[in-house]
Amino acid sequence: MARLQIEAVSKRFGATDAVRDVDLDIADGEFMVLLGPSGCGKSTLLRMIAGLELPTSGRILLDGRDITELAPQQRDLAMVFQSYALYPHLTVERNIGFPLKSRRLPRARIAERVAQVAATLELTPLLGRRPAALSGGQRQRVALARAMVRDPGAFLMDEPLSNLDAKLRSATRAELIGLHRRLGTTFLYVTHDQVEAMTMATRIALLNDGHVEQVGTPTELYDRPRSTFVAGFLGAPPMNLLPATVSERAGRLRVGAEGLDAALGIADTCGDTAVTVGIRPERLRIDPTAGDLRGRVRMVENLGSEELVHLDLGMRQICARVPRPAGVVAGTEIGLSVDPADIHLFHPESGLRMKWHGAQPVRADAEPDHAEADVSVAPSLS
Ligand code: ATP
Repeated sequence: MARLQIEAVSKRFGATDAVRDVDLDIADGEFMVLLGPSGCGKSTLLRMIAGLELPTSGRILLDGRDITELAPQQRDLAMVFQSYALYPHLTVERNIGFPLKSRRLPRARIAERVAQVAATLELTPLLGRRPAALSGGQRQRVALARAMVRDPGAFLMDEPLSNLDAKLRSATRAELIGLHRRLGTTFLYVTHDQVEAMTMATRIALLNDGHVEQVGTPTELYDRPRSTFVAGFLGAPPMNLLPATVSERAGRLRVGAEGLDAALGIADTCGDTAVTVGIRPERLRIDPTAGDLRGRVRMVENLGSEELVHLDLGMRQICARVPRPAGVVAGTEIGLSVDPADIHLFHPESGLRMKWHGAQPVRADAEPDHAEADVSVAPSLS
């Protein structure tokens, strides 16, 4: 059992607010990923949970018990770092068994437990080797085994895959997902890699400049980003974000900008309202006839199965991710269409997702995200 509660935790280093007033409730058995750009405070937050840093303020609870000031070894947590920190002079077997030996467990008990964990991670044939004779992926598995051997309540991992090459990283990712399913233990995992977060997490906490920008399942963050920061961080290429205006035509709302005139799929009355419009590249379709967007093709990138079509839309640029071959040529003008449900609206200053008051979906299947979102656009922002 390991439920981790982080309550109003802050950490200040001199003049730097590394972590600012973070609240997180991580349920037993979750795979929670702390995601965010470099320097946003992910590692500092993890280190406070591990007991390697003391918060400036706030509390950390493990299964309801306040562990904020407990020494790392008194917490029922195991930490796996980016650098494997294995003992080079010890065999794999002794490296894995080290945490039990330092707890003075009987030798037979240690051997039994090491054998069990080694089998789980397919390390049995390597038990007699020293770390220098292992690949990066094998070393990472030994580090993981050493964390598992104590059977901790939760695993804390700080970018454990970042030293691996792309192929091995993908394989180890799959192993970690399998391991989490088998063990059912709480995982708290730090990364700046959105693919790791999207593929492994049951929930993601996206951090921005020391605070939590959004917490939710990968799908929630991707499909209903609560701000332009979340919208721009998740997705490759990221969501297209453009300054635009929402206005009404015959009782129907439309969003417009240079080269853009798209229906929002809701009926309402309003004056002109400035917004930031967001459309994911893969939600744009090439549409030679009509087109909610019209622009000039600047460049086409071949990704193999798909193409990235970069367009100039007046002074702005957008990107569409379309099946290959798209059959478009640089320098020509093309039209693109987008489903109203795939149009996101954000407040132009705060960057927060907008909700339209009194809005009525025109069709039930075309109800846009912003018809039920968290922030209101009119009459005022909350
Ligand atoms: P990265 O992905 O680059 O590791 P991160 O999101 O893990 O970044 P942290 O390492 O937690 O970020 O750092 C958050 C902020 O706190 C940064 O501005 C960093 O420079 C600062 N910081 C971290 N540790 C210390 C320290 N011991 N002393 C002073 N400043 C620190």
